[in-house]
Amino acid sequence: MAGTALVATSRSTHAEGTRPIEPSLRLPASQAAPRVALTLDCCPGAFDTRIAYALVDLGVPATLFLTGIWMAQNRAGLAFVKAHPDLFEIENHGARHLAPVLDDKQIFGISPVGDLATLRQEVEGGSAAIRSAIGLSPTWYRGATGFYSRAAIPPIEAMGFRIAGYSLNADLGASLGAAQVADRIAGARDGDVIVAHLNQPRRASGAGVVEGVRRLQAKGVQFVRLPTKPAGSPA
Ligand SMILES: [Zn+2]
Repeated sequence: MAGTALVATSRSTHAEGTRPIEPSLRLPASQAAPRVALTLDCCPGAFDTRIAYALVDLGVPATLFLTGIWMAQNRAGLAFVKAHPDLFEIENHGARHLAPVLDDKQIFGISPVGDLATLRQEVEGGSAAIRSAIGLSPTWYRGATGFYSRAAIPPIEAMGFRIAGYSLNADLGASLGAAQVADRIAGARDGDVIVAHLNQPRRASGAGVVEGVRRLQAKGVQFVRLPTKPAGSPA
């Protein structure tokens, strides 16, 4: 798919090379209207129908990152997502929502995998849960927290997954208020990969996701899903 090569970079919030990094991902520059990719994580939790119903009403596509835990907890949400394959691309957010970090320290209160064997269970277990529930094989993996040990990334890629970074963290773990989230999303620029959350229906941030998407759409910004094949890869 010419023109869909993504631009992946990473930054670390720490000087030390072994600290977890937060990979960035952008779409290539558009030749036409500005475009963005909306990605929504389904960590453990519930199903934010405010966002899901609005995306269907507006015809806005999104890439959803599902955990095995969320699928087990949200049968109705899963059914809704499955009913709209034209809009919702399904990708892998891990089996148990463990951070792909190879040490014993929690990150944002999330437990790490700790070792490579558990990393494999987390990544392949998440993929197996999606295959079982939906009948699709995901090609993108986004680790819980969005942070990764550098040494965890090659094994994840060797399992056949690309690392789903992002360039615009819209809701900071669904912790921001609606107006803040709306402003952050409405300020998206061409090529941004936006991340927000679909698992926190009781938090204000979800209303901001809807408002921000409406404002982008009103500006003529196009929404695309993450490409399911890397540029130049065999079909
Ligand atoms: Zn998550």
